[in-house]
Amino acid sequence: MKILIANPGSTSYKCKFYDAGNMSILFTATVERIGDKEGIYSYEFKGAEKVILKQEIPDYFFAVNLTLESLKKKFSIGEIAAVGFKTVHAKGVSGCVELTDHVLKAMEDYRLLAPVHTDVYVTAISVFKKLLPVTPLVGLFETHFHKNIPPEAYMYGIPFELYEKHGIRKYGFHGASHRFIGLRAKELFNADKVISCHLGGSSSVCAIKSGWSIDTSMGMSPQSGLLNAKRVGDLDPYALLYIMEKENLSVKETGDILMSKSGILGISGTSGDFRDIEESMLKGDKRSELAFKTFAYYVKRYIGEYMAILNGADCIVFTAGAGQNSPTLRKEIIADMDNLGILLDNKKNFSNPKEGLISADNSKVKVAVIPTNEEYIVAKEVVNFLENK
Ligand code: ADP
Repeated sequence: MKILIANPGSTSYKCKFYDAGNMSILFTATVERIGDKEGIYSYEFKGAEKVILKQEIPDYFFAVNLTLESLKKKFSIGEIAAVGFKTVHAKGVSGCVELTDHVLKAMEDYRLLAPVHTDVYVTAISVFKKLLPVTPLVGLFETHFHKNIPPEAYMYGIPFELYEKHGIRKYGFHGASHRFIGLRAKELFNADKVISCHLGGSSSVCAIKSGWSIDTSMGMSPQSGLLNAKRVGDLDPYALLYIMEKENLSVKETGDILMSKSGILGISGTSGDFRDIEESMLKGDKRSELAFKTFAYYVKRYIGEYMAILNGADCIVFTAGAGQNSPTLRKEIIADMDNLGILLDNKKNFSNPKEGLISADNSKVKVAVIPTNEEYIVAKEVVNFLENK
C-alpha cells in the first residue's frame, strides 16, 4: 500500500509518498512561494537526483497539480491508497478520520481558534477533493495524542455549561511530533516518562507517560502555553479584556494582535525567529534578550511542572527548528536545574548533535536532541485507519 502525506503551509506545499510496507519514502516534492511569480518547485524520486525548477506558482490548485503530475512519471494516481493530512482542530472530532463534509464543517466551527492552520488545510483538502475525487482523504488531528489527558488537567475554571456547550477545555496540539518523540526516546533510551520540548516557529512542551500525553502546554487553541514566534502564548484573561476595552478593539482586531504581533516578535519588536533574536542579542539588543529569556523561562517552568506531574522524568527531549539547532537556547533553559537531577554537558550540547544525548554522565535525567518526524506518525496512523476501516 502507498500513501501520500500532504503538508500544506500558508505559502508552501510539501508532500511525501510512502511505501507503507517498509515506510520508505518513494517521492518527495516541495513547492515554495505559492502565489508568487518567482515560485520554486523541487521534487525527488527515491534514489534519483533532485530536480529544482523556478516558475510562477499562481495558486494552491496549481501547486498540488504540479506535484501529482511529477508523481505520475513513475506511479499511477490509482496507486495512492489515501492522502493523509496533519489536521489541527475540529469541534467534537479527534483521532484519525476521513475528511468528510461533516468533519470539514467541524473544522470550520473551531476556525477562530486556529485560523491560520485551518484555512490552509481547508484550501488544500478542497483542492485534493477536486484533483483526486475518489481517493480517500484522511486527517490525523493534532489533538489525538492528548486524548488521555485527565479531566483535572484539561478543565478550565469556567461555568460548567460553557464547557459542555462549546467544548471549552484544554486539547493540546503538536500531537504527531510529541508522539514521535515519545516513541523515539523509548527506542533510544528506554525512557517511559518523557518531557518533549517542541521549540520552533510554534512551540509546546508535553509530558509523556508510556507513549501517550498526560499534559501539555497548549490549551483550547494552539495560541496558548509557550510564547510562539508571533503568537501570544499564555495571557491572563483579564489582561485581554482590559486591552480590548482600553484600546477599543473588536474580537477580530484583538485576534490579529494575538496571532501575528505577539509572542517573540511582540516582545522583541523586531523578529519572531530565534536566529535573528540570537544575532541581535549578540549585538546588545535588550528587547531581543528579554524575548529570548522570557521564552526560555516559560519552557523551564513547564519542565518543572511536568517533573512534578510525572513524579520525575527519564528524559527531556529538545526537538523542532530551535530545539534541534540552538544550543544557546537549550543552555539557557537547562541552567541551574542540577538539584532536580538535570545537568547539561556543555561540550555535547554545543557539538549540536543531530540526534543524541547532551546531558552530563552524572545527570539523573537524560537530556537529548531528537529530530522530529511528524509525517511518519501521520503515515502510520493513516495506514492503520485504512487497514481497520
Ligand atoms: P515551524 O514551527 O515554523 O513549523 P520549525 O520547527 O522548522 O518550523 O522551526 C522554525 C524555527 O526554528 C525558526 O523560526 C527559527 O526560529 C528556529 N531555528 C531554526 N534554525 C535555527 C538555528 N540554527 N538557531 C536558532 N533557531 C533556529
